[in-house]
This record gives sequence, C-alpha cells and structure tokens, in this order.
Amino acid sequence: MNIVAGISNEDQDMFDYATVSHGLYIGGRWQPSSEGRMIEVVDPSTEAVIASVPDATLADAASAVDAAAKAAAGWRETSPRKRSEILRRCFELMTERAEILAALISLENGKALRDARSEVAYAAEFFRWNAEEAVRISGEFGLAPSGANRIIVDYQPIGICVLITPWNFPAAMATRKIAPALAAGCTVILKPASETPLTAYALAALYEEAGVPPGVVNVLTTSTPGPVTAAMLADQRVRKLSFTGSTGVGRMLLAEAAKHVISCSMELGGNAPFIVFDDADLEASLDGAMVAKMRNAGEACTAANRLYVQAGIHDAFADGLRKRMAALHVGPGTHSETECGPMITRKAVDKMNRLVEDAVARGAKALCGGAIAEGKGYFYPPTVLRDVSPDAVMAHEEIFGPVAPIMRFDSEAEVISKANDTEYGLAAYIYTRDLARGMRVASKIEAGMIALNRGLMSDPAAPFGGVKQSGLGREGGQKHGVAEFMEAKYIAVTI
Ligand code: NAP
Repeated sequence: MNIVAGISNEDQDMFDYATVSHGLYIGGRWQPSSEGRMIEVVDPSTEAVIASVPDATLADAASAVDAAAKAAAGWRETSPRKRSEILRRCFELMTERAEILAALISLENGKALRDARSEVAYAAEFFRWNAEEAVRISGEFGLAPSGANRIIVDYQPIGICVLITPWNFPAAMATRKIAPALAAGCTVILKPASETPLTAYALAALYEEAGVPPGVVNVLTTSTPGPVTAAMLADQRVRKLSFTGSTGVGRMLLAEAAKHVISCSMELGGNAPFIVFDDADLEASLDGAMVAKMRNAGEACTAANRLYVQAGIHDAFADGLRKRMAALHVGPGTHSETECGPMITRKAVDKMNRLVEDAVARGAKALCGGAIAEGKGYFYPPTVLRDVSPDAVMAHEEIFGPVAPIMRFDSEAEVISKANDTEYGLAAYIYTRDLARGMRVASKIEAGMIALNRGLMSDPAAPFGGVKQSGLGREGGQKHGVAEFMEAKYIAVTI
C-alpha cells in the first residue's frame, strides 16, 4: 500500500508491517485471538476495509494480565536511569518514524496529515517528558509533630494497570498513559479503540525496538470491551484503571472498578465554551477559534463546543468564522492538501446531522455547511451556525465534529453563568485584551484547563484533565502524570 509519496523504503516497510495483523501483543509475542475472531478496520475516507486485527477473548485478557504480572518485578526493579533511557529511546524512534506514523494515524482515523503530524510530535513528547520525570521521583522525610518519630513517605509503583483509549488520538492518548506508567515502574495492558488499533500495534513494535522488555506493555483489541475489561479488573493483581473516552462509558467503568476498589484516572468528555469579549483582537480570536474548533475536524475532547461572542464583536466574528470555515479543504486525511478529514464513522455523521437539524429547528441559521455531503466516506462539511438557542441539544451535548455554534452574550456575569451551565468541565477558551478580566473570568469558569488568548492548551508539561463530569485525575504535568501510577507508603521510624 503506497500511501504517502516520498517516504523512505524503511518507512514503507514499517507501514506495510503495521497494516498486516501480527496478532495481539502479549508478553512480547504476537499471537492470534484464542477463538480466531478478527475485527475489521475501516478507512473513514473511503469506507473500505484496510486491515483486520484479532478480537481478544476473556482467555486472551487473562494471558495479558499474566504477562504483565510476570514482567512486573523486573520492571519495578529496573533502575530509574535505565527506565528513563528506554523511554527516551521511544521518543527518538517515534520522532524518526514521525512521517509514517502520521500516515498510519491519518489512514485509520481520517484526520488530516497536518493534524496527524502534530499528534505524533505531541505523543512522542510524553516519552521525552516522562524520561525526564522517571529520574526525579522522590519521597518525603519529616519529623512527626509530637517529636516521637520520623515520617518517611516512599512512592511506589501502583501495580498492573489497564489502560483504555479512544480513537480520536490513537497515538497520543496511549503514550500519555504508557509513558508515565512505565516511568513509575508499572506494567500495563493497553486496550485501544476498535476503530484505530493499527497505530497502537505499530507503537508496540516500536517500544520493543526501544528496549521495553516483554510483558511490560501488552496490547489487545476486542469487540467485547465490557466483559474483557470487567474480567481484567476482577483480577486482584490489577490495581489501576486509566481511561480516556466518553463520560457515559467512564461512569460504567467507575462502577465496575468500585467492585474491586481499583484506583481510577478518568479523562472524559467536554463541552468547552469559547468566549470572545468585545475588546478581543478579532483576527487572533478567529485564528484561535479555528484551532480550538477544527483541530482533528472537531473530534477533540477540548474542542470549542459553544462559541459565546459579545454583542459588539458578534457579527464581525460570525462573518470571519464563516469565511475561514467555508474555505477549508475537505478530503481524505492522507491527501496533503486536506485541512478537514472525514468523521470517524457513519454514526458520527448522522449525529452531526441530528444536532444541526435540531439547532435550526430552534431558530439557528447556517452561515455555511449544514448538510451531509454525498458520496463515499464519512464526510460532514465545516459548518457555522449563528443565533443558536441555549436550548439546542448541541449546547449541552459534546458535538465532536466540524460544527461551530455561535451564541451572542452581553455581560461578563451572563457569559460565566452560561459557560458553567453544563455537567462537563474539561476546557475553556477566553479572548480579551484585558488581562485582569481574563484572569478573573478564568478563575470563575468551572474547567480543569483554560486557554487565555490561545486556541490550544495541550502540553505534556502541564496537567491535563477535567472537573465535574469531565474526569478524575490529571495526565502530564510536573509530578501529576506519574503520581497517578504511584502509591504513597508511609513509614514511621524512631531514630
Ligand atoms: P468511548 O465510546 O467511551 O470509547 C473509548 C474507549 O472505551 C474505546 O477503547 C472503547 O472500545 C472502550 N469502551 C467502550 N465501551 C466500553 C466498556 N463497556 N468497557 C470498557 N471499555 C469500553 O469514546 P470514544 O467515542 O472512543 O471517544 C470519544 C470520547 O472520548 C469523547 O467523549 C471525548 O471527549 C473523549 N475524550 C476525552 C479525552 C480527555 O482527555 N478528557 C481525550 C480524548 C477523548 P471500543 O472502541 O471497542 O468501543
């Protein structure tokens, strides 16, 4: 399969390797599903089946936990320096293979190559960052208030971790968990999304090449994630569940984990407000809106979901956004000129349609887009809606696609109240030239992350995560990411 022009033979070999099933990756070996079943992988740009991967059973899941348990002591006892060097090598190999990994992501996810390239750089950075964190994990030492003893706090790897990731960032959502887990000294079982398993398997081969020992990272795909995950969580050796995905599935998994009192990190859905005040720099706010809305064709948890624009700048902003959105080149992600690729599935396209029809029925006007494109592929055109009612379903549900609903507001107090009127609290964007106002509003918005006069906030060096029903815990950042995979052990000692 020749997907990207101008790539090296070595890259082409890796690409061909990644699109052929080598099996589930368990204990450093590639093996078929114990029942021989397969899951088809579809190119969302063409609807053609491009590969098949094994469909893991409960027996395969048990093998993966066994493999992670067998490797646990060796990895935990590997020196932090050695762990760090292996993680650094993962970063280097991902960087060397960036172009081919981007092509693979683009093929199975549909995102534009330019977005896939950014994802690879972001995903690789988790290895570099956590290579640096691995050698800086430290404990605490103090005197008890009574003076009777010393308090020593030692941070230890939490144990075997089950990691579950979504399809929208097939590389980055996995490395954001694997890198800190390995830095902490844990072994893991990754279950990637069924729509985008190829990147996860290609990366597994790369980790092996970087020196990650057999069993430290295991990867399995399954069409029955509920029972397979429940079986792994019921195994007493599993001590951690780290999940990225929808709030609905997150709630179910929290209930499942509660049965066994397993530590959970949850990176869930969002409904980000994008607030533009009258005094904002119009061009900068439009640039920011395009990034916040259209990175990954809107399929991002941090995507701007509700654009609140103050009355004085509203019409100019709406017109500017219409021009930029209408000018986007829509096409297969793997084509170099594409700026907006397809949605992940037909179901996702139908959802865009349902949300737009609902908003229009409640009084919204489509400034561009607004109707399903004909032909093969799961395409939905970049769409701008104005005069969207606060009652529209899209004001409350995660859109997760290239639809930008604009809502007018008058006062600061009003927009803060509207922005917080949601069960979600992942990300928010604020545009104003008045820094004091920006900081004041940022402190009142209920979200784990705020971008002030920026359209992007994700950074491996900063704590990523949400409040309210957008999640529990943080990924990345100084200490936060690794801390999710460690447990404090307190030792009282008299000296
Ligand atoms: P999803 O339907 O919740 O699926 C996420 C993962 O969970 C997939 O691997 C899926 O497997 C698996 N899964 C589904 N049902 C399960 C069950 N009963 N037990 C165990 N695992 C199960 O979410 P998605 O549609 O892939 O991703 C989009 C969502 O992820 C959005 O809500 C988005 O906001 C959120 N997200 C959040 C962040 C963040 O950092 N906060 C980042 C990215 C995405 P299958 O693929 O096999 O169904």
